[in-house]
Amino acid sequence: MEIIGVVSKGKKSGKTTTVEDIVRELVKRGYRCGTVKHICKEDGFTLDRENTDTWRHARAGARVVVGVSKGETAYILKTEKEPRLSEVIRGIGDICKELDYLIVEGFSKEDIPKIAVGLLDDDLEEVVDENTILISGPAANLDLKYDIPAIDATKDPGGVVDIIEGLENRFDAVFDRLPKLNCGKCGFETCEETANNIVIGNARLEDCVVLATRKEVLLKIGDAEVPLGSFVQDFVKNGFLGMIRTLKKADMKPGDVVELKIRVGEDDVRYL
Ligand code: SF4
Repeated sequence: MEIIGVVSKGKKSGKTTTVEDIVRELVKRGYRCGTVKHICKEDGFTLDRENTDTWRHARAGARVVVGVSKGETAYILKTEKEPRLSEVIRGIGDICKELDYLIVEGFSKEDIPKIAVGLLDDDLEEVVDENTILISGPAANLDLKYDIPAIDATKDPGGVVDIIEGLENRFDAVFDRLPKLNCGKCGFETCEETANNIVIGNARLEDCVVLATRKEVLLKIGDAEVPLGSFVQDFVKNGFLGMIRTLKKADMKPGDVVELKIRVGEDDVRYL
């Protein structure tokens, strides 16, 4: 799922219209889209209207209330503090796995590819940063000082989506090369996040610690690979091969792959 942010300096700048235009064009091209909207309201904001049944469930102390009907299912998660975008995205992934694009309105400080929307040149000052891939809104029709493509989504939604698709192709090419272990050792929580940051120039393929270390030892638990640094790989390889060399029938030659499988028993995990 590719994540694109749409940000602006303040309200009434055309952000929501830009989101609508992008979603409409993506859906027209056959993509499955989701959106996230950051709501800048003080404490007390709720979608759950007073005296409805779901409101009563929450008031009784339920931390999550789900309203289910034929055409719509609403999840209302009661939180003490505002969740981070990454948590919201994880939640969306759990309940709706088949999205191609997630368009995020607001969240201007997040490290995701962003479209900066403004009415005037000055509106862009605070929102254009190293993650900006495009400028949109009425300001895109002006002679701007930024070395970033500028397309007004209301006039040319196809042009905006062409740029988003180009980003997606680059993302796929990068993501394919990453190990998909989501180990977090590169500083990003997931390989998807790393790929996004490589595409927009905030990271390099070499930042993947797993790719950077030679893979002479592969450790898998079930189907999941456990990333090993070069020190641990050397340690396991030398200790293990040293033990094998003492066995009579263990005949090794260069190029052989040695496999060891261990079935984990109750006692092995008791003190973990
Ligand atoms: S270090 Fe590599 S495998 Fe681990 S999260 Fe980063 S990109 Fe993914």
